[in-house]
Amino acid sequence: MKVRMNCIPSGTWRVGYPSPADFNFDFSRLLRDTRHAGIAKNARPDLRVAIVGAGIAGLTAAHELFRCGVTNLDIYEASERIGGRLRSEPVEGQHTVFELGAMRIPMFTQPTGPAAVFAQYTQRFGVTSQPFPTADTADVSFGVYSERATAFNLKAGGGILPVAPEVESVRQKWELFASRVVTAVRASFGTPQWPAFWHAFEQRYWRDSFRNVMLTPARAQDDRGATGKLGGAGMSEDELCVLERAGIGEGPWAAYLDFSAMLVFRMLFFGFFDDLQLIQGRFDADGDHAGGPHAGDTSLTDSLGNSLAAPRYLGVQSVAEAMLYFPVESEHIGPISVYDASRDDRYRVRLYTRSAVQSIMRVEDEVRIECSSHQRYYDAVLLTAPMAGNRCGIRMIGFTDGELPPDVVGGDRMSEWLASSKVYVALKARYWEKSNIPQLIAADNFLEATYGYAVRTPRISDPGVLLLSYTWDKLSESLLSEANDTALVSRCIAMLDQMLRQSGIGGKMSDYVDEGQSAVIHWFRQPTIRGAGRMYRAGFAQPNHALLRYNEAHSAMSKLYLAGEAYAIDGGWVESAMRMSLDAVLHLLRNHDAAFSAPFTFDSAYPQRSTERFTL
Ligand SMILES: Cc1cc2nc3c(=O)[nH]c(=O)nc-3n(C[C@H](O)[C@H](O)[C@H](O)COP(=O)(O)OP(=O)(O)OC[C@H]3O[C@@H](n4cnc5c(N)ncnc54)[C@H](O)[C@@H]3O)c2cc1C
Repeated sequence: MKVRMNCIPSGTWRVGYPSPADFNFDFSRLLRDTRHAGIAKNARPDLRVAIVGAGIAGLTAAHELFRCGVTNLDIYEASERIGGRLRSEPVEGQHTVFELGAMRIPMFTQPTGPAAVFAQYTQRFGVTSQPFPTADTADVSFGVYSERATAFNLKAGGGILPVAPEVESVRQKWELFASRVVTAVRASFGTPQWPAFWHAFEQRYWRDSFRNVMLTPARAQDDRGATGKLGGAGMSEDELCVLERAGIGEGPWAAYLDFSAMLVFRMLFFGFFDDLQLIQGRFDADGDHAGGPHAGDTSLTDSLGNSLAAPRYLGVQSVAEAMLYFPVESEHIGPISVYDASRDDRYRVRLYTRSAVQSIMRVEDEVRIECSSHQRYYDAVLLTAPMAGNRCGIRMIGFTDGELPPDVVGGDRMSEWLASSKVYVALKARYWEKSNIPQLIAADNFLEATYGYAVRTPRISDPGVLLLSYTWDKLSESLLSEANDTALVSRCIAMLDQMLRQSGIGGKMSDYVDEGQSAVIHWFRQPTIRGAGRMYRAGFAQPNHALLRYNEAHSAMSKLYLAGEAYAIDGGWVESAMRMSLDAVLHLLRNHDAAFSAPFTFDSAYPQRSTERFTL
């Protein structure tokens, strides 16, 4: 069977390295070039579209479809709020927020500027950002705490982290392996050989867990990756334990080891770890908070009369808010926001919160949606919530295997949704400027990762917030038994004080925190989400590819479009969720004869994926 994945578009629609490669298309340019016009002009005024989920993927789709003149648009959201896993909780007296969901956003910066879709929207909506503090940022102090030694390894501002000899050997093995694979990927990316290379690479590694690849012997001979067979890191089992506990000196890698090696490779290759930004919100050129449409408006309601929280335009959630409340810029519709259109009889736009979709049914030439308050028929349904993958459960009824193939259903059903918990407290002062306490701490106890950050503009210098404990996977699951959030916050602070005392660093974290302001979230407990990130499992290439190409291969027939992180290969990132959303929007418009705005033409500029099964 012939394989035609990893398609590369012609000329200027191609993105450079680093960028997710299965579908190399410059979505960022598409948004830039069609900023004033809209991506396309809707040709069917009566087209009825439903969007399931008002997270960032659903809101992006609503904003873009509305800009194109799709004005018969219903948005269903199971919870009482918009934004989904973009969730920025305010802190009294500060502009810094508790980022309970997404916190650091990769910008995929290339010589021509950021290639992230997210960056296009921050520019469009006047949302500003600042670098997120990371362990390898020169002026960020960082410490790794080991329970066994009751001591910290410290990287002071400007320095590099001293690591124990056994960690050093693990680090060397990892760096040798990583540089070998990254060199091979870089050399091939974007060349005519890339599809064959990437296919060979996937073919070699798709079944392997990251653990297996770390234990696989290193290749003596570097064949520059022509065969995609780049061997492993050649670690011993003892070294793997070090990797599990201490990473390469910057905290445990335990959460990664049993997922597909492709998960880690894709993050490493495609720029997810670089150029991470803390999203401030809407600030003007002087650095003052600028607010935005409907900011502070306490009279907002959805189309059922349910109250909606007023947008605050702070943190990462401000982009989700702007998608709903900002007037759209378009040649096809007046300057009105999706929200205001939902209150205006000239449009048939509706937002239904507290309205979990229970079933989606294929009926003759339509799709029927059933939720707790009503059922309604549509010409197209764009789904951003998982069907069954995170166990919230939407029944899919009446779709044939051609419309909803078993590998797509299986890809959703067998998805691995990881638990994650965050424990936050407000700061009274930026402790990293006033003491020896490192700004970032990795620990091999239930805190796992501790981050201090604060919004800074020319006019604002907040004391900031402290993410006391940030856990994923097993560690997060073990925190689920904590019934009392207030007690958990106190326990985290006490643990930090104890660590600092025992290791002789001096200073007490409790002196810097305002325990009266805290926030705790366990994403597994959120009733409409029940999981923080969809992870690439070993041996899961076929279903992942089936989900990725669904819109192209099946949506014209099924009238169902898949968007958002739930159907993206690179789970855990806003960018993947938004790109999948734009993919769904483009196919929906094309399948309903919309006229795309120049210079974009769907048939010549948008890469085609094969409808054939992916072979390995
Ligand atoms: C703890 C955590 C940390 C993260 N960190 C980062 C980060 O640092 N950087 C980054 O880029 N990304 C990060 N992410 C990932 C990022 O938040 C997600 O990829 C992104 O927000 C997903 O958007 P989405 O719209 O696809 O899904 P969601 O935000 O999950 O939206 C789906 C929506 O559908 C609704 N829904 C569910 N079932 C139904 C139903 N039956 N009917 C109607 N509505 C329904 C849900 O309530 C939800 O609002 C993080 C996520 C978490 C949880």
